[in-house]
Amino acid sequence: MTGSVVIAGLGPGDDALVTPEVTAALAEATDIVGYIPYIRRIAPRADLTLHESDNRVELERGAHALEMAAEGKRVVVVSSGDPGVFAMASALFEALEAGPAGWLSLDIRVLPGITAMLAAAARLGAPLGHDFAAINLSDNLKPWALIETRLRAAAGAGFAMAFYNPRSKARPHQFARALDILREECGGKTLISFARAVSTPEESVTAVTLEEATPEMADMRTVVIVGNRDTRRVGRFVYTPRSAS
Ligand code: SAH
Repeated sequence: MTGSVVIAGLGPGDDALVTPEVTAALAEATDIVGYIPYIRRIAPRADLTLHESDNRVELERGAHALEMAAEGKRVVVVSSGDPGVFAMASALFEALEAGPAGWLSLDIRVLPGITAMLAAAARLGAPLGHDFAAINLSDNLKPWALIETRLRAAAGAGFAMAFYNPRSKARPHQFARALDILREECGGKTLISFARAVSTPEESVTAVTLEEATPEMADMRTVVIVGNRDTRRVGRFVYTPRSAS
């Protein structure tokens, strides 16, 4: 039996949003690697080993998955949402690049999942119906100055935006700064939506204007969606028209 690594997205939370090919890969796995809350979503089985890890050790997690595959195991690396969006797929390829050449011939596949911004956008209506940018607001892996530059450029160019990792206990002030920049670039009337724990029992979704928004509306379980100048409400929905004004 030759080993394999599947990098799979578990979607935003609800089991109904896990794709059938991800479910099949999980059923065939001998080993599953991932951050603790994602591993908890996997039903234990006698023939399955679950490897829980901390969120900050993504490169080691990738190397561990590749080592196990080289030993002949069927490994699934799990991320929430889509594995290619601010998640494990890139970490695994970084580990592959830094590792022994033999790993390059392993059976490695990435299985997409429903990313948080798309699940959130669907709840709201269609706020990402025109051009948009997805930005990770965490400065763990890039300098804050670069985040500000990208935020200003995307807002200034009229993109709608989706923000991942908007605010954490470790960096409570940066999101307030991000809101200030958005008010400057987009004006106070632009719609901003806070979608928290989408598709879980704790889900909450709120849409306000930038002048009404406060930093406390976001936490690490929230994806934030800022509209463009044309984004508007229709009844209980928020949508962005397909054509730009
Ligand atoms: N790979 C994931 C993103 C990982 S980064 C994906 O594709 O969705 C983690 C960030 O994703 C969180 O800080 C939050 O901004 C967002 N997120 C993940 N799950 C979410 C959910 N169910 N509801 C709202 N935001 C979510």
